[in-house]
Amino acid sequence: MRKLFIFILLVIVSFVFADVTVEYKSSLTPEVIKTVEIDSTDYFNVFELNKTFKANISDDLLDQRLNVNIYGEQLIFLIDSSYLQHGSDYFNMTHELIQQGGKYFLPAIFLTDLLPQIFSTMISWEENKLIARAPIDNSIKRIVLDPGHGGKDPGAVGFSKKNFEKEIVLELALKLKKKLEQQLDVEVLLSRDKDEFVSLQQRTKFANENNADLFISLHCNAHRKSEIDGIEVYYLSTAKTDEARAVEAMENQVVYEYEGGQEAVKKYDDLAFILADMAQSEHLEESYNLGANLQTALVSATEAYDRGVKQANFYVLRGAFMPSVLLEFGFLSNKEEEKKLISSSYQEKLIDSVFIGIRDFKMKYDQMQ
Ligand SMILES: [Zn+2]
Repeated sequence: MRKLFIFILLVIVSFVFADVTVEYKSSLTPEVIKTVEIDSTDYFNVFELNKTFKANISDDLLDQRLNVNIYGEQLIFLIDSSYLQHGSDYFNMTHELIQQGGKYFLPAIFLTDLLPQIFSTMISWEENKLIARAPIDNSIKRIVLDPGHGGKDPGAVGFSKKNFEKEIVLELALKLKKKLEQQLDVEVLLSRDKDEFVSLQQRTKFANENNADLFISLHCNAHRKSEIDGIEVYYLSTAKTDEARAVEAMENQVVYEYEGGQEAVKKYDDLAFILADMAQSEHLEESYNLGANLQTALVSATEAYDRGVKQANFYVLRGAFMPSVLLEFGFLSNKEEEKKLISSSYQEKLIDSVFIGIRDFKMKYDQMQ
């Protein structure tokens, strides 16, 4: 009986000690990585690394690989192998990576021996604890919504002459902010939250100064031919089609008309543009992906004519240092589309679709960081 007690005590003690505590060299609360016994070896669920080190974890079943990104560095594990690769170095965990019930388990020795070895400047193993530098979190946390035009600049004017782009996009932005903040764990800032004039330069400056992770400019279109309708999404480029150039000219007109004419255009056009273009080209692919997500969601929810994802040279996208897109929700110059754009049920569809587009982009983006 007494032996049994000691045995149970030992089991409890060894179980308690097997968990690994992580303390941070900052004010972050310590975390505990729980371990489980598999084949009489201590293992832990790989997703514990997401909690403790903000690691991004993805599996590649085709190559039988598991990728774990910690502190911006990639570790590659092979399923059913004890080896892991970091750059050109290989490490032996002595026990293999186990895949069980859709979960991945790594031997605890990875935490106690290999992590401090691989990330020697970030992590150390002291007194049976991991002491780690605070993890880097590159996920999307802050979004700037940019309702186009405002104040003295009405933007596109409705077929009825009664509705203005500046009013519709502000309404959409306010509703969208509410939905995103309630359901996506992000902070949403607006480049304007009332009917006021904001220059194009101020809009991107606002996004940059607030370290936004996404910049989304909201617009309605207009065309001299009233039969033209549909939804389109733009991301920045210097490459142009004639049609893109026409929309671009219209959206950029604000600089000419309201921001000091030719002088102001020149200011946007010189060195600042080259620098901004470089900053944006870094995000070109991401901007395209975000745009494609949004366009697909918008068109499938509204059944509006699909005008596609296009590149154009918008001033408002030039200066942003983050994935950025410009949405054209429809043509106010089209009688039917104007009616839809001011109806609250159609606006609801637009908001839901933009929400879905951003959510899906964020899910993929956060995984890749
Ligand atoms: Zn506009």
